[in-house]
Amino acid sequence: MKKVLVLGAGIGGVEAAIALKKEGFDVQLVSDRDFLFVYPISIWIPTGEISPDRVKIPLSEISKAHGIKLHHGKVKQIKPDTVILEDGTELKDFDYMVVAIGQTKLKHPGIEHTLSVCGSPDEIIEIKNRLDKLIEKGSGKIAFGFGGNPKAPEAVRGGPVFEVMFNVHNYLKKLGLRDRFEITFFAPMEKPGARLGETALKMMDKMFSSMGINKITGKKIKGFKPEGVILEDREIGADLIVFTPAGDGHPVIKDSPLTQTEAGFLKINDYCQVEDFEHIYAVGDVASIEGPQWRAKQGHLAEVMGRITAHNIAVKENMKNGKPESYKPHINIMCLMDTGNGGALAYRSDSKAMLLPLPVIGHWMKKAWGVYFRLTKLGKFPKII
Ligand SMILES: Cc1cc2nc3c(=O)[nH]c(=O)nc-3n(C[C@H](O)[C@H](O)[C@H](O)COP(=O)(O)OP(=O)(O)OC[C@H]3O[C@@H](n4cnc5c(N)ncnc54)[C@H](O)[C@@H]3O)c2cc1C
Repeated sequence: MKKVLVLGAGIGGVEAAIALKKEGFDVQLVSDRDFLFVYPISIWIPTGEISPDRVKIPLSEISKAHGIKLHHGKVKQIKPDTVILEDGTELKDFDYMVVAIGQTKLKHPGIEHTLSVCGSPDEIIEIKNRLDKLIEKGSGKIAFGFGGNPKAPEAVRGGPVFEVMFNVHNYLKKLGLRDRFEITFFAPMEKPGARLGETALKMMDKMFSSMGINKITGKKIKGFKPEGVILEDREIGADLIVFTPAGDGHPVIKDSPLTQTEAGFLKINDYCQVEDFEHIYAVGDVASIEGPQWRAKQGHLAEVMGRITAHNIAVKENMKNGKPESYKPHINIMCLMDTGNGGALAYRSDSKAMLLPLPVIGHWMKKAWGVYFRLTKLGKFPKII
């Protein structure tokens, strides 16, 4: 039986491992965490609407449900024929490698004074702790923002920042404290969220003014200090800065001989195969995505890439009939943007750009998706999308 080593147990790596196992491969999943962190539902941690434990799915349970071998360890170095872990273990016994270790974030001066909604699980818990302290104090200033990466525009992650900001607004309102808090949104681009189209932008503007959120866009971010954000032309005073820099290539990839872009993302062909390396594939945020200008790295695309990779390796090994498949036709933006009291379905493809308001129901749809995701990963419910 051919052996596949999957590096990273995030949304893309776990989906690839499950799909590879279904195709009949011997799969080993290497992870530095003992759980799969379901980022899309972690947005409710700061407002206490979900406990961090409900955002984690134990890898031991996923492994048991699907017959995947688990290896706990942090990848230190990737060579085409060997993967070296931080504890010195060398993994050499594989026919194929699937890299799915995600991305890291750009470093801005003073970044240590900020917390990101897209960081480690501990970081988002810290946002909750800091918010709780401000609520206890009874008033405060909170700045929310995200940055860009000119070398990898698809690595900008703004959706979750909007979601946490809208949730915090509604949470403070529910506590009767909203008028004692100043909320400011900032981003260096003129039109943050523009990839969702003009109609969506107009809708977002309306939401900002109805929620009383200050908006400062199109101003370069010079850095951060304990008391706030330093922009090119002014400062934003803040007791809490929730900031998500744009994605940057993973240091392990940057140090590897694997073919990569200037920003350190793996260059793949249509079939998710790393260029110039026949037996190495990459899925999810670790890879450079090629396509329309509005393209974005998303969890659902990471999952599609995982399934396509499994299919393509099986076809290559003559384990099934069919042609290799490309990930590119699956590039779209699909996101149920949560506001705490409802939501909106954001969708972008070559032919469509829309933001469909889903008051009340949108919130519950996202909750239901979280339950569905957990059950399918544990093999307790069939995958329908
Ligand atoms: C807060 C938030 C909300 C989001 N909401 C949505 C949404 O609503 N819809 C949507 O489609 N997408 C959403 N996304 C994007 C989506 O979560 C990502 O695109 C997706 O997680 C990418 O999957 P991945 O497997 O490539 O990376 P990740 O999920 O980041 O997984 C990478 C894994 O690799 C592991 N790893 C890293 N380095 C090493 C190492 N050296 N050794 C071993 N393991 C390592 C990490 O611990 C992690 O488990 C959201 C993202 C965030 C942060």
